[in-house]
Amino acid sequence: MRIVLLGAPGSGKGTQAALMVERLGIPHISTGALLRNAAKRGTELGLKAKSIIDRGELVPDEIMSDMIEERLGREDVADGFILDGYPRNLAQAKSLDTMLERLNQPTNEAIQIDVDLDQLVKRIARRAKKEGRSDDTEEVVRNRMRVYHEQTAPVIDYYADRGLLSHVLGDGEVEEVLERILSVLSVNQTST
Ligand code: AMP
Repeated sequence: MRIVLLGAPGSGKGTQAALMVERLGIPHISTGALLRNAAKRGTELGLKAKSIIDRGELVPDEIMSDMIEERLGREDVADGFILDGYPRNLAQAKSLDTMLERLNQPTNEAIQIDVDLDQLVKRIARRAKKEGRSDDTEEVVRNRMRVYHEQTAPVIDYYADRGLLSHVLGDGEVEEVLERILSVLSVNQTST
């Protein structure tokens, strides 16, 4: 199963993707995590990305498509993947489609996790305390939200137009949200 997870910053994409890995047995690919790792390792790309991430802007599409192409070329994605944080604008969505069509492995499902703004703000404040992410400060979060609404939100319609989109309510306990996602995917929901 090839799944694209969509949702605003703080909607719980990363948390849900990590849980989905256990149930679905396919890898979680987070472009944000790949970029943060590159920054931590101090690679040229990582250092360039860090200053962009710390402003809450988007890393250029070309860098991202190279990164995602390399990642989707690895063997562990043979049975599918959960994409978290990509695509983030329409150009990336089109580029992903082209890439996956070439591999004869088109996206099967796009899931939008819906969470209202009050909740998003609370969750990010909690994560800021827990993880200390440099882009979870109030000013940067405000910019990330703006970028999300301007550039990423149109991606929701892109997948809706292709008949691939489902909305899932992101309120409530983490496990409840997971069950909603699994039910959309028609995955057997017996808890382990
Ligand atoms: P995330 O962990 O998904 O919230 O991503 C953190 C930051 O990494 C974003 O605010 C962007 O600066 C950058 N980033 C992650 N994924 C992408 C992407 N697909 N395109 C551009 N920038 C990205």
